Amino acid sequence: MTATKMMALQPRPAVEQMGEYHPQLHGRYGLRLDFNEHTVAPSPRVLDCLRSLTADDLTKYPEREPVERIVAQHFGFAPDQVMLTNGVDEAIHLLTEAFLDPGEEAIIAVPTFAMYDINAQARGAIVHDVLSDQDFAFPINAVMERINERTRFIPIASPNNPTGAVVSPEQILSIAAAAPQAAILADEAYYHFHGETLFPSIGSLPNLFVTRTFSKVYGLAGLRLGLIIGPSEAMRFVRKVASPYNVNAVALACLPPALEDEEYVQWYVEEVRYSRELLDDTLTELGVPHWPSHANYILMRIGDRHRELVSVMRARGVLVRDRNTDPGCAGCVRMSVGTREHTQTGITALRETLREMQWRSPK
Ligand code: PMP
Repeated sequence: MTATKMMALQPRPAVEQMGEYHPQLHGRYGLRLDFNEHTVAPSPRVLDCLRSLTADDLTKYPEREPVERIVAQHFGFAPDQVMLTNGVDEAIHLLTEAFLDPGEEAIIAVPTFAMYDINAQARGAIVHDVLSDQDFAFPINAVMERINERTRFIPIASPNNPTGAVVSPEQILSIAAAAPQAAILADEAYYHFHGETLFPSIGSLPNLFVTRTFSKVYGLAGLRLGLIIGPSEAMRFVRKVASPYNVNAVALACLPPALEDEEYVQWYVEEVRYSRELLDDTLTELGVPHWPSHANYILMRIGDRHRELVSVMRARGVLVRDRNTDPGCAGCVRMSVGTREHTQTGITALRETLREMQWRSPK
């Protein structure tokens, strides 16, 4: 045995212990009602912008700040309160990098978006899952009770994914006030389909951050564009842990035309709101248990045959997402809505699928 014993590469213990998140992205052909994306396309202005890109745009390292100034002005913030990210996924990552040390604590009301847990686990933090009650109302009292001096991260999606439930701005503010040592993230990825925002409270609390995504209503999921807004002081630390080139040049070029086309965004929001009601009414008529949603999807309880439903729907050309393994979601499937026409196609496939399966409402 030599003095320097050769060791094989090992992951950090926190990484070794964490679960894996592999959403099924392969073979997504047909009508995509599985990932809450836009079902049509981004604004035509974005497509025009893409066609006008030059070799120079691709050769140069991207410059984020000029576009951040445009975004800040658009939403009424100071430029140092705003940062563009590689999707909200990266914003979550940066928040945990900046504020959560190994052994410190995160509180996550579940079921919710998986990336909060993944990033907190990767930091080696202690994650306290707090289960929502049966109607998926936000468990405000249980979250409040979990807060202690080691709490450093509390992410809250409103509307929540996959449930579509919302949390009032007042409740989020009360959590932020109760945990001044923690980064509070109000994730407004689905803001447009609901309309309530914590934007006016930015800067009033030193630990409150809001995220928005360009993956949903703006139809830019493939470009990976997110936005994090927070108090100038705290945003310094978020910027410190990010790459200066985190958002690519194509995404940066496309953002201003996407923001400018407010009519296009408004059109899609109206299509989604109409479609959501249509799907909700249909599920009621068919006796499928489901939860009222404020987002562009509805969670329904199919029961034991959830996997079969997803696969028969796929065979009919419509993709929906199995949520059976989410906490409190046994037997559940999530179906996105889009334009009226797309939603109608999805609803027809769902009716036919349930009929073909001779499905009966679970007890
Ligand atoms: N937050 C929530 C609540 C989400 O559902 C999603 C995407 N499914 C995201 C954030 C991630 O958004 P992005 O595509 O901007 O990374």
